[in-house]
Amino acid sequence: MAGTKLCEFRKTLIYFLVLFFFAACSEDTSQNETTFEKKSFSWTLVTTWPKNYPGVGLGPENFAKLVEEMSDGRLKIKVYGNGELIPALEVFDAVSRGTVEMGHGASYYWIGKLPVAQFFTTLPFGLNAQERNAWLHYAGGLELWEKAYEPFNLIPMAGGNTGVQMGGWFNKEINSLEDLNGIRIRMPGLAGEVFSRAGGEAVLMPGSEIFTNLQTGVIDAAEWIGPYNDLTFGFHQVAKYYYYPGWQEPGAMTEFIFNQEAFNELPNDLKAIVRTAARAVNQDMLDEYTARNNQALISLIEDHNVILKKFPDEVLYELERISKEVLEEFVEEDKFATQVYQSILDFKKGVANYHKISEEAIFDLR
Ligand code: CA
Repeated sequence: MAGTKLCEFRKTLIYFLVLFFFAACSEDTSQNETTFEKKSFSWTLVTTWPKNYPGVGLGPENFAKLVEEMSDGRLKIKVYGNGELIPALEVFDAVSRGTVEMGHGASYYWIGKLPVAQFFTTLPFGLNAQERNAWLHYAGGLELWEKAYEPFNLIPMAGGNTGVQMGGWFNKEINSLEDLNGIRIRMPGLAGEVFSRAGGEAVLMPGSEIFTNLQTGVIDAAEWIGPYNDLTFGFHQVAKYYYYPGWQEPGAMTEFIFNQEAFNELPNDLKAIVRTAARAVNQDMLDEYTARNNQALISLIEDHNVILKKFPDEVLYELERISKEVLEEFVEEDKFATQVYQSILDFKKGVANYHKISEEAIFDLR
């Protein structure tokens, strides 16, 4: 009898334990459900590049994929190329107004409305990609950029770098400074002003319009990016000489821009995902260019008979002299631009000294 009672007591105890266990489980489940009921977001991203364009155009595509995966679908971003929703040169305004949540492009496209924007893409004879990333993330560059975009209701982040670009496509040889006279070239930003002062004439147009304008003679020359991208646009069919180095863009950084309200509405985990994905894409784009440019250059020379040429030293020295002059005039009456320019100059001086005994010394040895 005693054994039976003990057995029943055990059964009762197990019954209550099981009941308690399930009650605890169901409580946990409801808690988890509450935790997982997080708000989802659907964003629109407009770019200044043709849809799925190699390098610069893949940056925003990769970013959207990465954010969706990292957020497990809580932040979905649809990417539109140049002209699909917004024309390339209206991306800044569209994001600023909040018509769309974010954009991808290059800050020097906006110098007409915000001159200091030039400093956040590249400068003639300025920092290379590695140095620019270091200035931006470890020497106060990003904070200055955020301050510059704040009045436009925008938050900027680095969006990938092309590395050193090419000097551009020309229909005639450049053997002296005089040869620049009268050349109408597609060249954005302050470098365009430098080229104009050297005797040419610079015009701004999106990459997708370069081929036709070169073909029809609206322009005589064009700089775009480098072999990997220039090959896809087919410039070798309408210009013969391909010049280096890209003095005008020794490392052009593209940008992600976010509408402030849209970004601030995100919970902290999604904000961190966005920042992390942007940082990953920023590095990934440089890797893509570094891996692809060389193959494309070989193809341009061997398959398409492009003539590769270096600008004469006298041309480069003069362009460097004019660049300094243009930059100094440019910041003269703008206190904030002076601060940004000085920050870049200070950083460049220090890093250039170190790079002489590190990167340059190794390049010289190889
Ligand atoms: Ca360029």
